[in-house]
Amino acid sequence: MPDLSVVLPMYNEEGMIDRVLSAVSEQLEASGLGFEFVCVDDGSTDRTGTLLDEVAARDPRVVPVHFSRNFGKEAALYAGLATASGDAVLFMDADLQHPPQLIPKMLDKWREGFEVVDAVKANRGREGLWYKLAARVFYAIVGTPGGRKLRDSSDFKLLDRQVVDAVLACPERHRFFRGLVAWVGFRVARVPFEVQSRAAGETSWGLRGLVAYSLRNIVAFSSAPLRLVAWLGFITVALDALLAVQTFWNWWRGVAVDGFTTVILTVGLLCGLILLSLGVVAIYVAQLYDEQKGRPLYIVRKSSPHTP
Ligand code: UDP
Ligand code: MG
Repeated sequence: MPDLSVVLPMYNEEGMIDRVLSAVSEQLEASGLGFEFVCVDDGSTDRTGTLLDEVAARDPRVVPVHFSRNFGKEAALYAGLATASGDAVLFMDADLQHPPQLIPKMLDKWREGFEVVDAVKANRGREGLWYKLAARVFYAIVGTPGGRKLRDSSDFKLLDRQVVDAVLACPERHRFFRGLVAWVGFRVARVPFEVQSRAAGETSWGLRGLVAYSLRNIVAFSSAPLRLVAWLGFITVALDALLAVQTFWNWWRGVAVDGFTTVILTVGLLCGLILLSLGVVAIYVAQLYDEQKGRPLYIVRKSSPHTP
């Protein structure tokens, strides 16, 4: 059993395999920990899979997992989570945008007793105005799972075995890794890092991909839009009621235009009824949505020392 598993999701990273494995090994060999690499080939169309098998044949510390097709990074992270056997699991991108030089600092935090070591982006790189705005909206809707802000957090993380098991104990099928790690709690240390530029290959995220990914994560993670529907319904009903009072008052004073009183009251009543019903349905659907995730009701943190 290795002390540490390093999970590397790889989609068309043939140019990165040797570089990332040697850069990370260099850091880990100095740490004196036993380690393994769980390299998840996410249905690459280049030579990533073949190269991984070659490396694994030479180096038993490399455990390749080959997907039958491209299932996306979230699936690759989950496969890594499920395959890793270490006392701690380090997640990082295979393109060296997550600097391996940070690893010793992250390990120190783990040894100090933090179960989650979150590498947070000190800079967000160059981002356009629209991208920034979209990111804001995304994080506002996703909210603060487990009372934690997700903005600036990344998939560059070191998780203690307890946390790995807790995240695996959340059986939901649409998974949002960063959100789940925040949700399960535990003691978190944050280590800032500068996002590096890609060393080789190219990003597989286009605008459409990012929008789809964000929408999927919102739907997978947050019932906020449903609750918003409920609130909009109730607020509209309240405003409707005020309008009805005013309309009735005008009619009472005899200043209402003929016929309008009935129209306003009828429309208000019907709209109010529809929106109120929709709100009630939204509340129930939101609750069902949370129920179907089947997450544990609580998670116990064991205080056993995990220091290797
Ligand atoms: N990745 C993956 N499956 C995908 C897309 C990406 O496993 O469908 C991996 C990719 O190989 C890399 C990491 O996820 O190790 C981050 O991907 P990328 O660099 O394309 O994203 P960016 O850094 O631009 O957010
Ligand atoms: Mg990248």
